[in-house]
Amino acid sequence: MLTDNHGRPINYLRLAVTDRCNLRCFYCMPHEGIDFLPKNHLLSYEEMIRLITVLSEMGVNKVRITGGEPFVRKDLMDFLWKISENKNIQKINLTTNGVLTAPFVPELKALGIASVNLSLDSLDRERFMQMTRRDELPNVLKTLDALLEHEIPTKINTVVMAQKNDEDILSMVDLGKDKPVSIRFIEEMPFNGVGFGNEKSKPLTYQNIIEKIRTKYPDLYKTTDEANSTSYNYQIPGHKGSVGVIAAFSRTFCGTCNRIRITPTGSFKTCLYEDGGANVRDLMRKGISDDDLKDFFRETLQHRAKDGFEAEKMRKTVVRESMTTIGG
Ligand code: SAM
Ligand code: SF4
Repeated sequence: MLTDNHGRPINYLRLAVTDRCNLRCFYCMPHEGIDFLPKNHLLSYEEMIRLITVLSEMGVNKVRITGGEPFVRKDLMDFLWKISENKNIQKINLTTNGVLTAPFVPELKALGIASVNLSLDSLDRERFMQMTRRDELPNVLKTLDALLEHEIPTKINTVVMAQKNDEDILSMVDLGKDKPVSIRFIEEMPFNGVGFGNEKSKPLTYQNIIEKIRTKYPDLYKTTDEANSTSYNYQIPGHKGSVGVIAAFSRTFCGTCNRIRITPTGSFKTCLYEDGGANVRDLMRKGISDDDLKDFFRETLQHRAKDGFEAEKMRKTVVRESMTTIGG
């Protein structure tokens, strides 16, 4: 079992398969001026399968595929099928914006996807467009319907930003009245390609979000959170779905963090907030053996920050990268 220097077991890999995306979410990417990576800078599918195989021999049993938008990378489904052949991987999860996903939902079901996180910040077409800079709400809703129709466990990720979509909080919660989805509100983080800069206002916190939900649903009650959960979870009596808040900026969940990340270019990150991270793509292209790769993972995890605040303090530069280059 892979463990870090704080005794935390590591069993969850988040793998970003591309930095490209078909949306331009306000909180994630600048409108323009983005330099996408040339293809040969990205890990190939073969390299990613090798990394998953090596890590799965060290105790990693859960993989989340993310990005950028995973479905803009060609042949994603073949790659997912390949991962599903690894018997050590018990759960394959996917995070998607849902724009291109609907036609692939039956195949996701067939390969045994454990759950899908669908990003959706507003049910209002105009505001969706303001948030994502693209008019794609109908396609995202088609994906949601397809996921529910195929009974794939679905979580909706909603990034909440003051004065942008905080008015959507209650309509998003209402979605869970008849649909068995978990609506998870995420505090905005500064991974938007430019950083928070000199903004005076702090992002909405998870407490602000819960207070807002209680204005309509005072009987909202706390439920038990799974081990390693990043969300505080709640239920509303009579609702089929549930509600969660992810304190991504307040970083309340670091103590039980079981996650590691590999970026599209192969940086190995032991924390979302760290900069750099040694590069496994380069190690593999220089011919490292599987055993030495395992030593590299073990060794790197011996220098892991205890939490996101420590990781941020250890950075050489202020946070300003886009979430697409880290893998959300
Ligand atoms: N494109 C896919 C999607 O949007 O679901 C996968 C990648 S996206 C980077 C993964 C998650 O990160 C999304 O749920 C998105 O809302 C979240 N995210 C992106 N930028 C963020 C930020 N600045 N603060 C908080 N969450 C962010
Ligand atoms: Fe694209 Fe996802 Fe970032 Fe939105 S959050 S710009 S969908 S990668």
